[in-house]
Amino acid sequence: MDSEKALELNITVNQAGGGTVTATMHDSSVEERLQLLNARGATRTGDTWRLETDDMGAHADAAQYVIKMVSDILTPKETPGEARQATFERDGNTCRLCGANFDAPAIKVSRDRVNTRVLDHVYPQRDAKPIHRPHETCNLVTVCGGCDDVFLQGDKFRIVTDRLGYRPPPTDRQLIACIQKRGIIRSDWALDKLNASREEPDRLEHEYIAERLGALAQIELMKPLPDVAKNEGFEVYAVNISHRAIVFLDHKAVDRHPRLPQGFEFVNSLNGEDYVSMNEQKRGRGSSTPA
Ligand SMILES: [Zn+2]
Repeated sequence: MDSEKALELNITVNQAGGGTVTATMHDSSVEERLQLLNARGATRTGDTWRLETDDMGAHADAAQYVIKMVSDILTPKETPGEARQATFERDGNTCRLCGANFDAPAIKVSRDRVNTRVLDHVYPQRDAKPIHRPHETCNLVTVCGGCDDVFLQGDKFRIVTDRLGYRPPPTDRQLIACIQKRGIIRSDWALDKLNASREEPDRLEHEYIAERLGALAQIELMKPLPDVAKNEGFEVYAVNISHRAIVFLDHKAVDRHPRLPQGFEFVNSLNGEDYVSMNEQKRGRGSSTPA
């Protein structure tokens, strides 16, 4: 199928492992996503970003991210403008994770990715079917680019179970692994993830997941966002980014985010404390098999 170009991406790797990434934008709707390349040290001339590096391996993920994000934006079932606007209004034009106010002058004048307004699809677009109504306000939440990078792109933080005040059973650990993947979650998505490795009669009910998310809210690891999905068959919860059980993996994304709580820790500085591994998202793996 022939269609107008939106983006041209050119990647060159030299014999020494370095190289260049150039991205040329032909459609301004993808501009927001290309800001990522600025954060990586790219220079912009007109509609072309150019990133030169001695270590191409360190930037392979950036190219992948750009392709994925640009495809998400250009997907034919793009979020209608009215739904975007209604979501920003419902959220008071603030990030639902860190509280960044996009009307505040300091953020308004900043063109940094961390201060960019982003619409998060709570049931991830790539997994969503029409029944999940991915482009309606009940699936949309306002976040900042900083929180998007740290909490929503998967695998940038861990939850230290020793700091939760209870010993989470295997199913809770699986749920926590889902939260580590997506800091804002829908109960029906978590249910689908947890049931993916279960056959009848072991499949979980939605009621159970809703109850466990409620329990995680009781210990303040999660906070409910009841205004997002009113009277739907699912609930939306966001991770409490100030909870002391949260430790981080990725220095770069964390260092860029100016609104993370002070004194954050990294997973490699833990002294033998137990945290949830991403392997535990699938049942039967990880450390939780009963003796
Ligand atoms: Zn934020």
